[in-house]
Amino acid sequence: MPKSESPSCEVKRRLSEQFAIAARRFDEAVVLLTNHPSQMTPGEHERLWTDSRQALERADAAARAYKEHVDAHGCAKLPTGYERSADSSR
Ligand SMILES: [Zn+2]
Repeated sequence: MPKSESPSCEVKRRLSEQFAIAARRFDEAVVLLTNHPSQMTPGEHERLWTDSRQALERADAAARAYKEHVDAHGCAKLPTGYERSADSSR
């Protein structure tokens, strides 16, 4: 059976999860960079910068993929918890 309106879209959930993970990694890297910069070797410092930049890029890519997906799929209009009332009203 064709299901055009999936209230809990698996792709959407995975993309938002990817975004959350990347965003948290960026957050952690920034906290490490700002908390103890003097206790770090230049190499560690450099790696953290690279880490945070990569995490930011990944979060950005995930956010873009998320937006593209919900635009194409239309699943952004079905936030979790609303699916019942939205469904029965039609
Ligand atoms: Zn979707």
